[in-house]
Amino acid sequence: MPAKDLDQIVNLCKRRGFVYPSAEIYGGFRSSYDYGPLGSLMLRNVKDAWVRAMVQQRDDVVLIDAAILSPPQIFEASGHLSNFSDPLVDCTVCKRRFREDQLDNRDCPQSNKGCAFTAARAFNLMFQTQAGPVEGEGAKVYLRPETAQGMFVNFANVLQTSRKKPPFGIAQLGKAFRNEITPGNFIFRTREFELMELEFFVHPSESTKWYEYWCQTRMQWYVDYGIPAAMLRIREHAKDELSHYSSGTSDIEFMFPWGWGELEGIAQRTDFDLKQHTEHSRQKLEYFDQATNERYVPYVVEPAAGANRTMAAFLLAAYDEDVINDEPRTVLRLHPRLAPYQVAVLPLSKKDTLMPLAKRIHAMLSANYMCDFDETQAIGRRYRRQDEIGTPFCVTIDFDSLEDDAVTIRERDTTKQTRVPISSLVGELAGRLGF
Ligand code: ATP
Repeated sequence: MPAKDLDQIVNLCKRRGFVYPSAEIYGGFRSSYDYGPLGSLMLRNVKDAWVRAMVQQRDDVVLIDAAILSPPQIFEASGHLSNFSDPLVDCTVCKRRFREDQLDNRDCPQSNKGCAFTAARAFNLMFQTQAGPVEGEGAKVYLRPETAQGMFVNFANVLQTSRKKPPFGIAQLGKAFRNEITPGNFIFRTREFELMELEFFVHPSESTKWYEYWCQTRMQWYVDYGIPAAMLRIREHAKDELSHYSSGTSDIEFMFPWGWGELEGIAQRTDFDLKQHTEHSRQKLEYFDQATNERYVPYVVEPAAGANRTMAAFLLAAYDEDVINDEPRTVLRLHPRLAPYQVAVLPLSKKDTLMPLAKRIHAMLSANYMCDFDETQAIGRRYRRQDEIGTPFCVTIDFDSLEDDAVTIRERDTTKQTRVPISSLVGELAGRLGF
């Protein structure tokens, strides 16, 4: 059974070192989170799984890593300076701010009835800072609110250097920043987060075909990595919901404990961005097809997912509680590629006699896998810790191992134990993990 309550995951994340509130020793920094020893491994695995599917296993996508600090010209051209905003109102009694589109009625949720709101103002979500020692308009820079513009401004560079031609994609993942008015729900909505975005450039006549292709392909990715299909759905945006650049968008949504929430948006950005940048930079951003003698501005289909939100969804879906030998346990049934550790090496005793062999096995497995090593506590408690952090397999070294050159593999999901010769351990684990 997946987690019913967000607190089950929030508590596990804090207790086991996945995610901590940011700047906690100073009382916390609202809606920011730090990823601990396990969370940073898992977040990296989510991003690696995305790169694997979107870049490594394809021959039509390349990866870039563009700058976070960006000059205003980029966002003037992209429309973010004038359009990337939420309608904001202030309560004249409690002085708090609200997103007008999120107020159920005209009453303030804080002061209740009888208060007045200011007229709605557009609040731009971009963080602004300055570069260099001189203040003023010339030094103004923005933290990118999406990674997409990095792909558009490098379109000609990538085209020239990668020998790709439409249909082809430029992928990028990295930090993005939005001054969200209503952050919350743990790592679901924060002001600093990681995006995983693909800009897929196609002939205009093929845009709809590729939009449908990416909706299907991206949905399958979540299922492949362990989210039950029943907890996912695709929702098409109504016309009045569309971003300023989109002619059609569908969201992949996950059943969060509070209801359906977006994991990824797949947008038809048309030729909007390339045309805008052509106009503002006076550099032609187009493709000349030598085979057909056709010159055109490609259309773009963009699957854009949030790594942190996706990690929360994987954790919620993997959470389970069961009873083993009359003892309740919590287990994260994470896909082996997403689990922080694929294996844990557990010597049965701390005695010097077992340590050298245990360390040798840890070194051997660490060549292929992220491998934990734990010699503390009773073995049952160590198994339970590994279950709770999602480690698919434990390898236990006992005193017999010194005699028979064999160790015990214990499975997370079934708790089944099998004795295997040390000489075949790497092959055995590879077979069971599937990589
Ligand atoms: P929302 O409507 O939830 O604010 P959005 O439609 O503005 O999201 P997009 O611009 O489509 O989001 O961004 C693509 C993806 O980035 C989202 O599907 C989500 O997974 C992630 N994302 C967007 N904003 C945030 C945020 N503030 N914190 C964490 N992840 C985010």
